[in-house]
Formats: sequence, C-alpha cells, structure tokens
Amino acid sequence: MKQLHHLFISILLTLLLLGAAQAFAEELVVYSARNEQLIKPLFDTYASETGTEITFITDKAGPLLQRLKAEGKNTRADLLITVDAGNLWHAAQEGILQPVDSKTLQANIPAHLRAPDNQWFGLSMRARTIVYSTVRVNPDELTTYEALGTPKWQKRLLLRTSKKVYNQSLVAMLIAEHGEAKAEEIVQSWVDNLAAEPFSSDTKVMEAILAGQGDIGIVNTYYFGRLLKKNPDLELALFWPNQANTGVHVNVSGAGITRYAKHPQAAVKFLEWLSSEKAQNLFADTNMEYPVNQNVESHPTVADWGEFKPSKQNLASAGELQISAIRLMDRAGYR
Ligand code: FE
Repeated sequence: MKQLHHLFISILLTLLLLGAAQAFAEELVVYSARNEQLIKPLFDTYASETGTEITFITDKAGPLLQRLKAEGKNTRADLLITVDAGNLWHAAQEGILQPVDSKTLQANIPAHLRAPDNQWFGLSMRARTIVYSTVRVNPDELTTYEALGTPKWQKRLLLRTSKKVYNQSLVAMLIAEHGEAKAEEIVQSWVDNLAAEPFSSDTKVMEAILAGQGDIGIVNTYYFGRLLKKNPDLELALFWPNQANTGVHVNVSGAGITRYAKHPQAAVKFLEWLSSEKAQNLFADTNMEYPVNQNVESHPTVADWGEFKPSKQNLASAGELQISAIRLMDRAGYR
C-alpha cells in the first residue's frame, strides 16, 4: 500500500513538472531564405538546449518579403533570415523589421556587418572575390578589382549576370568607395574585357574558366568551396584583391526580428545565441562561410584559403545604392 502511494506521488510530481516545462517552453516562427539543410541543424540544437520550439518556412527572399508585407500585423513570423545585405536592407526599408537594442549583438558582430539602425544583423560572412585559373594565371599578375579592367585581361574575364543581387551589392559597394563616376568606369572596363556573355551562376563562371572560356572571374567564396569539395584538384584558386587599400568585398547572410513578432524577447535571445561562439560555427561552416564573431575560427577548409583584409564599408550601402548600381550596370552594358 505504501509503495503504491509513492508511485502515485511520483506520477503526480512528473505530471506537474511536465506541465511547468510546457508553460515555460517558448516558441518561435522563422521565415528563411536560407535553405532548410543549412538552418534545421541550428534550430534543432537550440531546441535541445533551451526547449524553444522553432517552426519555419523557407522560400526565396522576394516571396518571403511579399508575404510578410501582406500578412502585416497578423504575421506569425518572429524572425526573417535571408542572404545578402541588399535583401536585409530592403526588408527594413519596407517596414517589416524592428530595431533590436542588444549589447550582445553589438559586441559579437562587427559594426560594418549590421544595420546602423539595428534592424538587421549579419550572422555569417562571405567574400565576393577574384577566382583565377591556376593553369593560365600567375597570382602575381593580380592586384585589385579595378585592375580586372586593364588591357592585360582583354577577352579573359567572366562574370555572373548583373540581375543577381550579389553583383548589385558589389557594384553598390564600389560606388560607396569610389563615387558613381569612377565606379562606372571600373564596371565599363570589366564589360570591355568580357570573354563571354554573363553567366547565370557563380558555379557556371568557374566551370567556364575550367573549360578555357576565360581565365578570371568574380565569385562568392562558398561556391568555390562547393566546387573544391567535389574536386580537390580543382585548377582554380581564390585571390584577395585590394589588400593595400579598400579590402575584399564581403557580404552576409543575416537576420532581423519582424516588426509584429509575437515572441520578441525569445527572438532576441535566439538572435544573440546565433551570434555566440557556441552557434557561429554551426551557422557558417555548413555553407563554408566565415563566422562574423571575431572570437570564432573559420572551418579549416575555409581557413586554408588564407587570411584577408575585408572592406569595412558598412553593408547598408549595398541597399542604399542598389538602384544606382542597377542603373550604372545598365549604362555600362553589363547584362
Ligand atoms: Fe548564394
């Protein structure tokens, strides 16, 4: 009888504790333009560490932005995760994000990789840099983005389409550094050196270099990483330009908290966790990107590509100057 009594008490206690855990468990809803394969491991780790249940949908940046706008106050989304500062800036501009005042985020993320008004935060960094054929190019011949337009590279340069936000951001950052007139001269000189019509992806640019259609190109580092993973003997290498002056062009994958978040405090906690030493490798390494948190080492494969000085121009310029960049590329005949 006494044993039975004990059993009842322990069952009762267990039920009470479960109920309490349920009451304290937080939930979050994330809209993500970063694909499931890259974000799911993070959400699972966070759930197991904190009990916070994360539901998410993934789509392209444009449709997610439209959806958030259409849903307005009724949105279930607490956070938007997307790639490229140009897209993050647009989300803020459309009024669907809210500023976050967090000492942790400010300490963990360098100032140039987050919005000056705290509406979005870079969580992993990628460089948009020069890639070259190790067969036909000596890295000593390379110096700067600007020099890709010199006669030496006539009919040897390959680029991705100017329709891609990555190139719009790159040119916007060139405008921020040099002013519009000089930036236009640079882009025009690139167009004059093209060996082929612009390609639809960074990977196609590299495959064309391997096929001998051209000798140099501009790509995001993680695409080079993906190709290298498939073929360790890849006859391509990355070059870090502008090390004596403006630095390598970088961009981010990042996040912001939605204006009408139903769980804003839980969202801030999650964002802070994503920028922490604990989570940064999980966020960056799955896509062969660089952690933004300076206390965190890059994945060894990524570190192998060498150290470089990045441009410190605030990435908000990628959004602010995007329209100017698109018009400039159009004038220069960059398709
Ligand atoms: Fe990409």
